[in-house]
Amino acid sequence: MKNFLEEETTMTEGRYSRQEMILGWDQKKWGSMSAVVIGDDLLGQQVLENLVATGLGDILFIGEKKNSAEKKGYYPNTSRDSMSDSAVDFLKKVNPEIKIDFLDWPLRRKSLEIFLEKADLLFETTNDPQTKGMLCAYAKEKRKILIYGSAEKYRGALASGKNQEYISEMQELQGSQGIIPSMIIGGMMVEEARKSCMPYAAEESKTLKTLFWYNLFSKERFEKQNDFHATVQLSGKSIVSVGAGALATPCLTALLLEGADDIHIIDYDIPSTSNLSRQIFYYDAQGRPKALVLSEKLGVIRPKAKIRALNAKLVEEKEEGYECITPEQIKGLSPELIVSCLDNFEARLILNKMGMPLVHGGTSFRSAKSSLSIPGKTLCPDCLFGFSLFAAEEKKRDSCDAVPEPSIISTSKICAALMAGEAVLYLSGAGEHINGYIAYDVFEASRAQVIKKTNICNHTEKEK
Ligand SMILES: [Zn+2]
Repeated sequence: MKNFLEEETTMTEGRYSRQEMILGWDQKKWGSMSAVVIGDDLLGQQVLENLVATGLGDILFIGEKKNSAEKKGYYPNTSRDSMSDSAVDFLKKVNPEIKIDFLDWPLRRKSLEIFLEKADLLFETTNDPQTKGMLCAYAKEKRKILIYGSAEKYRGALASGKNQEYISEMQELQGSQGIIPSMIIGGMMVEEARKSCMPYAAEESKTLKTLFWYNLFSKERFEKQNDFHATVQLSGKSIVSVGAGALATPCLTALLLEGADDIHIIDYDIPSTSNLSRQIFYYDAQGRPKALVLSEKLGVIRPKAKIRALNAKLVEEKEEGYECITPEQIKGLSPELIVSCLDNFEARLILNKMGMPLVHGGTSFRSAKSSLSIPGKTLCPDCLFGFSLFAAEEKKRDSCDAVPEPSIISTSKICAALMAGEAVLYLSGAGEHINGYIAYDVFEASRAQVIKKTNICNHTEKEK
């Protein structure tokens, strides 16, 4: 295996090169389209972020600023006084190629129509049934693509504008929108709109037929009814993230906004141009270690949190010549939970063997899988997903250059938020752990499901 320091970071890949690898993705078409996003709370911001990062050409973000002026910002940007201004300012830096405007505007049909008629895609993200009803009626009349969604703190829902009958059921989603459901529903809203106008090869472009729910307080996670209630308490809980890429960036941001204030970030990578479409905090960080930059950006969002960067590679045993970190050293940080945001099976196996509580996430361009493993209480990720087999295959390929895989921000963020949700429940000592995993797949009619297992394992370093 090559020493990672000898590998040159490839800068020849473009900003969109990973999503352009998806069969059926048409960057030119996507870049020529326009969208209107209605509602400027967290759900609207998540939709906006996915559109900006993927390079949709022209976006109008409409809200009533009075709604967001008081709220805590999501982006590492303190320059503006309202949350929506702060989001737009930040996202303009993330992708300067995109035209983004924010409009503080009354959400009434008469005043909106002039903007709606120019847009190819419409997203409605408020918790207001009247605005939803108005947009659905407009979209039906003008045959526009509309996806609508709502969210509360730990629950959210979305539906296609073709199915207006779900508006009344969504009505019970009230109050401030939480980051975890907003990331999941926001990612899915963009995926559903994309499916309508630009289906992938082999993807049947089937509109979402049902009202889709995400609910952290439901045993099945995708049902409307609460089965339990949890008091979320993350302050003082020590979290170690291994990885600082497309999963770690949104996952740690979500945990931070939920109150986490003790985080170590381990990574040895530096940002490349092809990261920019999924890892939005690295727009101004080329050449600097991801772990360090991510810790700085998260520190701007929550200055009082203790966030420490370890610019090191995870290895089984200490090696000379470069910065590395061993499982023993990670244990020395006394984490209550390890967040595994890795992209290779060799490193995933090292974490697996540590026998510690672990949240794992893995994605492809169309799907996401997330699991929470507790030794002796659930199966470990290796038993669930067969890491050992994949690691052996990975090793065979080592002589060739690693092949980049197609990926897209919306799916990464859905995965990251599913991981954050399970981490929140575990660290708060609330709810029921799922022995098994949560699976999202945009090709599936149901979109997401929980796969439950009945057997458990106790794989620790000594036993393997
Ligand atoms: Zn196992």
